[in-house]
Amino acid sequence: MISSVLPTYSRAPLSFVKGEGAWLIEADGRRFLDLGAGIAVNALGHANPALVEALTAQAGALWHTSNLYQIPQQQALADKLVEHTFADTVFFTNSGTESCELAVKMARKYFYDKGEPDRVEIITFSGSFHGRSSAGIAAAGSEKMVKGFGPLLPGFVHLEFGDHEALTAAITDKTCAIMVEPVQGEGGIRPLPDACLKGLRDLCDTHGILMILDEVQCGVGRTGKLFAHEWSGATPDIMMVAKGIGGGFPLGAVLATEDAASGMTAGTHGSTYGGNPLGCAVGCAVIDIIADPAFLSEVNRKSGLLRQKLEGLIASHPDVFESVRGSGLMLGLKCKVAPSDVVNAGYANEVIAVPAADNVVRLLPPLNITDEEISEAVARLDRAATSLGGA
Ligand SMILES: *Cc1c(COP(=O)(O)O)cnc(C)c1O
Repeated sequence: MISSVLPTYSRAPLSFVKGEGAWLIEADGRRFLDLGAGIAVNALGHANPALVEALTAQAGALWHTSNLYQIPQQQALADKLVEHTFADTVFFTNSGTESCELAVKMARKYFYDKGEPDRVEIITFSGSFHGRSSAGIAAAGSEKMVKGFGPLLPGFVHLEFGDHEALTAAITDKTCAIMVEPVQGEGGIRPLPDACLKGLRDLCDTHGILMILDEVQCGVGRTGKLFAHEWSGATPDIMMVAKGIGGGFPLGAVLATEDAASGMTAGTHGSTYGGNPLGCAVGCAVIDIIADPAFLSEVNRKSGLLRQKLEGLIASHPDVFESVRGSGLMLGLKCKVAPSDVVNAGYANEVIAVPAADNVVRLLPPLNITDEEISEAVARLDRAATSLGGA
């Protein structure tokens, strides 16, 4: 008999009942160190006092009105994002996949309004992940995600990650945009080198097409900059955001330049919940903390510490681990064993990590994890690796 929860996930036998910073407490009382942060969502840890305060204060005042009216919290969050980024304008969503939907619509509408209605194709790359809507799965194009779901949203051109020649050759008079994650998350913490991101920007400029960055996972301080593309100096025309921006509250956003957003006039797009007072009150608290340069420099310092300890872990367990990659607190351990074995051994040693493609285990701790917690987490990973027989 089917479970009352639609069985689309094979879930670990863990049931968390409380969170405190980088710790998750299981129903049986065990305390797990959380290097997953709900897949890069709980950017400021669990039950962060500033976020709890923002949420509960707003919850006692007003939860929801509608985008038919002014929403001061939404205005405040949009202003903050515009102040801190390349963007001139922001639309709020509830998830990454909805941000993908709007990014696709915005890019196509831009060219439609410029009298090029056939310019609809968006180039994407292997190993990418853009969400589970029909646009999201069509964009990523992975066999596993699209199989059985009928006709896909047309207009995506899939290229091999890192194949520059194929990319240049693939741009035609039907191309409207290139969509890419600066650091692939689900694909296994695969960073696009800064030079490539700059090259993509130049290519887009040369051909007059739009650059869409998917920073749903790598954004909001995760790589040690507010947004990952800032490392390269290149800026997008459109950017998808979600996960960390709500710190655990379902919130997403699409950021854009005034030019790229020019087609999205009144009545062309909307959302019932997107940008509601609750989500945006929390989002403001998140951005106030993470956009602070002192906070981001701490993320980078902790990244160095974690990486150094992970190098030691790899050296101690050469049969289990191969290398570490990524930036900031978005790190991937390339494994020589099945990543799920490492993750399961982690559970047994009360440390949480997240599997990804390309034989990688992702480490995405809360950005405010302490030095002591980093040491303890790596000690637990060390015990986990030892239990796998990797001496
Ligand atoms: C998680 C993710 C998405 C989808 O976000 P949802 O909130 O699950 O819809 C899209 N793109 C990237 C890069 C992601 O990591």
